[in-house]
Amino acid sequence: MVRWLLLAAMGALIVMTDTLAWGEDEFEGLRAAERDNITVRYPDGSFGAARQVMNVTIRTRAYLAPLFGVPEDFPITVLWMNQQWWPKATRMEYGFPSNSSRGEVLPAVDVDRPIGLVKLTGLLDLEAAPEEVAGPFKGLLGLYREATPEAVKGVLEYSPDFYLRYVINFILPHEICHAMNNAAKTPREPWWIHEFQAQMAAVITCRELGFEHDAKLFELYYRLMYLGGLDRVEETDVYTAGQKGPSMGIVNYAWYHGALVQMLHEIEERCGEGFGERLLQVCRDRAANHQQMSNADFIALMSEAAGQDLSGYMAERWNLR
Ligand SMILES: [Zn+2]
Repeated sequence: MVRWLLLAAMGALIVMTDTLAWGEDEFEGLRAAERDNITVRYPDGSFGAARQVMNVTIRTRAYLAPLFGVPEDFPITVLWMNQQWWPKATRMEYGFPSNSSRGEVLPAVDVDRPIGLVKLTGLLDLEAAPEEVAGPFKGLLGLYREATPEAVKGVLEYSPDFYLRYVINFILPHEICHAMNNAAKTPREPWWIHEFQAQMAAVITCRELGFEHDAKLFELYYRLMYLGGLDRVEETDVYTAGQKGPSMGIVNYAWYHGALVQMLHEIEERCGEGFGERLLQVCRDRAANHQQMSNADFIALMSEAAGQDLSGYMAERWNLR
């Protein structure tokens, strides 16, 4: 998910991850926690967060590695850093983590100033959102259903742990999915299918790890982003949005990632919550070494995972065929 905001914010992340050697120089002064082929690099003062990052990374890997068919000791490095640790940090406004093109490094969010995430929250349109989405979202934040949009945004902005939980419990599994998707050479192009799997993996990992509250909270958060963007986006489908990349802008960006979660929600309504796991297994068993595929071929894999033909639904609802 990050790739684009970074691209939009500061130039080419692909170039950045390809040309930046995350060598020891960049890490000098950072602490390192290591366990079972997982390394978490973190600055002084972030021990508590680093411990939770390690905990979630270990459990996410244990859950996702068999679904991708990668080794159970699949190497992962998580960089948990604030801006001072990023090269050229003063010129950047990043607020997102990303997986590198090599797949083994997961640069973490600017942990002190998650600017990008806060901007996304600013796009939520709670006034226009249907009660069935906005109501439970407020409830999970501990607010009354009558809470005003300003109250909700205030809670999100000043919550001591909303962004921390968002990054560790949702975005981290999302990025680990990208890394495994790359390593397993399972379908990842066109880009919407790469992002769809990552958003899906984040939701199902959250559930699997027992973060039921957060799984629901962040699912609703993304669905609100999708709904909030409907009247404002220039893109009409996730394929075009996925191909467009950095020029898309933050409104389209939020809508796009929200739409992929909305898509998962609607498919689960049709065939149950096992869909996500089955899709990753089907990709592993049927499409290893098929990183690039047509929309129709990927929808066929989705249909197999769903146990029903989704081609009509995907064409009518999402303009994907
Ligand atoms: Zn992503």
